[in-house]
Amino acid sequence: METIPSFQVDHTRLKCGLYVARKDVLGYETVTTFDIRMKRPYHEEVMETGSVHALEHICATFLRNDELWKDKIIYFGPMGCRTGFYLIVNGDVDTDTIYPLVERTFDYAAEFEGEIPGATPKECGFCVDMDLEKAKEDAAMYYNVLIDAKKENFNYPKPRKPREKKTK
Ligand SMILES: [Zn+2]
Repeated sequence: METIPSFQVDHTRLKCGLYVARKDVLGYETVTTFDIRMKRPYHEEVMETGSVHALEHICATFLRNDELWKDKIIYFGPMGCRTGFYLIVNGDVDTDTIYPLVERTFDYAAEFEGEIPGATPKECGFCVDMDLEKAKEDAAMYYNVLIDAKKENFNYPKPRKPREKKTK
């Protein structure tokens, strides 16, 4: 089988940030997948499942209620490695355009108070695994990354060229 494109990004050189993971054309529509990278792989601890789960509920609810974007949100969910989330939106969208939405989502999550939406046995498959305090901490750390972001936090590391043998 072929290696899928997201495994071709060199995760050992990846910083925290906001990246376009891929754009797919489905019929007449383009769909953009964003890589919301909250933890720097192999440099920082990954998130705890309770934090990831709480953030999933809080952020998905926020995104699907955002007046500007709610009709374009296709999916928001965690990466299995627990270093971040994927956000999938309808349209050919770049990071500059999505940035304000992601910023206000994590601002909201960092300040969240009250009942986590959908956190009941009826609404969720394992609602006991939620850690709001950790979630707020992780959201705040990522928010700080976003507001201080530089070019390298918006562009995947460029693949290194294979070294060529010198011939004499
Ligand atoms: Zn859940």
